[in-house]
Amino acid sequence: KDRQRLDKILAHIGIGTRKEIKKLVKDKRVTVNHQLVKDPGMHVWTSRDRIEVDGKAVRYREYIYLMMNKPKGVISSTEDDYDEVVVELLAQEHYAFAPFPVGRLDKDTEGLLLLTNDGKLAHQLLSPKKHVPKTYCATVLGEVTEADAEAFRRGVVLDDGYQTLPGELTILRTGSESEIELTIYEGKFHQVKRMFEAVGKKVTYLKRISMGPLHLDESLEPGEYRELTDEEIDLLK
Ligand code: URA
Repeated sequence: KDRQRLDKILAHIGIGTRKEIKKLVKDKRVTVNHQLVKDPGMHVWTSRDRIEVDGKAVRYREYIYLMMNKPKGVISSTEDDYDEVVVELLAQEHYAFAPFPVGRLDKDTEGLLLLTNDGKLAHQLLSPKKHVPKTYCATVLGEVTEADAEAFRRGVVLDDGYQTLPGELTILRTGSESEIELTIYEGKFHQVKRMFEAVGKKVTYLKRISMGPLHLDESLEPGEYRELTDEEIDLLK
């Protein structure tokens, strides 16, 4: 894995397609250890060899980690027959890594979505045994009460008979419409909406604000994303 074809490496990190890379080489724009490259298929050591394009060193990395503020109306998936999918919002340089969303948010849900091509990390975060906390901010029709918070603390029975694990409900504002935060430690289909249905209430807006140690960067507008910082990546591992 450490020794790979140069064109494969450059394609992986989003420099271009194999065809475009062939042209870069032909145009004498690529060097390895300061030697002009003649064969785009040459093998190089990803950890040792210095690869430059137009005199600029390119950094090889296997994995990419992106934090997106998922917008409404887009599917948390890599492909869909009808709707736009989250990976279509990515720039080519990130899309080239073939990242996939870690877990799903409903089509109408906004907020924190992690995208990566690191299957091991994704598996850890999604493992039901790990009980990774996820916090959602929601608007709910009508009054949300302390009785609801107590019900969630005990766990509620969903429409399919499943008894949820305890969840932590914080009421931020209540009245004819309420704003709440809910932290859950599992991720059943439509879980937050169905937990409110279990207490006779309807969620009208839902946004995920955290997942494990990762918090949504509030400077990201819906549809925007950024790479995780090294600190954030460390926290996840
Ligand atoms: N719970 C839901 O109901 N929907 C989501 O998208 C996430 C959690």
